Amino acid sequence: MTLLPTPPVGPGPNPATRCGYVALLGVPNSGKSTLFNALVGSRLSIVTPKAQTTQRQILGLNTSDGTQLVLVDAPGVLHPRDLLQRALLAGAREAARSADLLALVLDPTHQMDEAARRLLLDVASEGRGPRIGIVNKTDLADAASVARDVAWLEGEAGARRFLVSARTGVGTGELLTALRALLPPGPFLFPEDDIAAEPVRFFAAECVREALFEQFEEEVPYATFCEIEEFREGRDRTYIQANLFVERQSQKGILIGEGGRAIRDLGVAAREKIEHFLGSPVYLDLWVKVLPGWRRKRAQLRRLGLPVPEDDGTPQAS
Ligand code: GDP
Repeated sequence: MTLLPTPPVGPGPNPATRCGYVALLGVPNSGKSTLFNALVGSRLSIVTPKAQTTQRQILGLNTSDGTQLVLVDAPGVLHPRDLLQRALLAGAREAARSADLLALVLDPTHQMDEAARRLLLDVASEGRGPRIGIVNKTDLADAASVARDVAWLEGEAGARRFLVSARTGVGTGELLTALRALLPPGPFLFPEDDIAAEPVRFFAAECVREALFEQFEEEVPYATFCEIEEFREGRDRTYIQANLFVERQSQKGILIGEGGRAIRDLGVAAREKIEHFLGSPVYLDLWVKVLPGWRRKRAQLRRLGLPVPEDDGTPQAS
């Protein structure tokens, strides 16, 4: 389908297409992952009621009518308290910098304070693309809160605004249409039938993390990093070995639980999620390892493949 009157000069086999990166930026819990899943039309990103669960940048694709949206579920934007959170903020900045469109996602049921708004604008200002403002959770929010967020988006943030409920899907159709129209001309960056640009093993790790957040209290899931050590497709089932890195011995004890009960329960829940995702049987082998203070140490973050912020003089944990 030709969308442009005259095909632009550019690389690729089909210059009549449009394609670009859309970064979803917002504070943790504003509903970015839920919106990301709604826009991709599939459950790729983990959704939890707890803040800051998106550790790595996740890409999702929506390809139709000659357009390809590459959605980036960036880590939540908040003032960092430790090195991991600084790495996450650096990841959000990077997402903004490499995006063609910036989508600011607001949750009117939790008003951001002035500092949070300023930080969100600061991160958005790293990017050069047009800004879209999204007021999410309209199924829950009262009219006055929605109006306040709309005013801020249209005023200070300089964004065209959309009202949606990522949970019910209301408004997401118009949002998709608007995003598609704003994409720059260019060839598709990913195969047309793909919905994700991540290897399947990445989603296996996300399933384990989602199960972790559901089963354990505050501290432990945040202190855990899941790495897929082995992913082998067999004739009857897929064998997956996942390493769970924690910061301290005591956290390892909690994950394993009395007589190994906790880790067994976690294994069952995570396996069911992965099987649901893959649509085929899985053997899941979970290993718990201590990587002392990994959230606070550059070398450990690097070892885990997370973006490491520049050394800005903040003292390192020993
Ligand atoms: P993120 O941290 O910004 O990625 O936020 P999540 O997508 O994980 O969502 C945080 C919480 O808000 C979860 O409990 C979601 O179910 C909930 N949520 C997200 N979008 C909506 C929405 O449109 N309406 C309502 N009522 N809840 C939502």
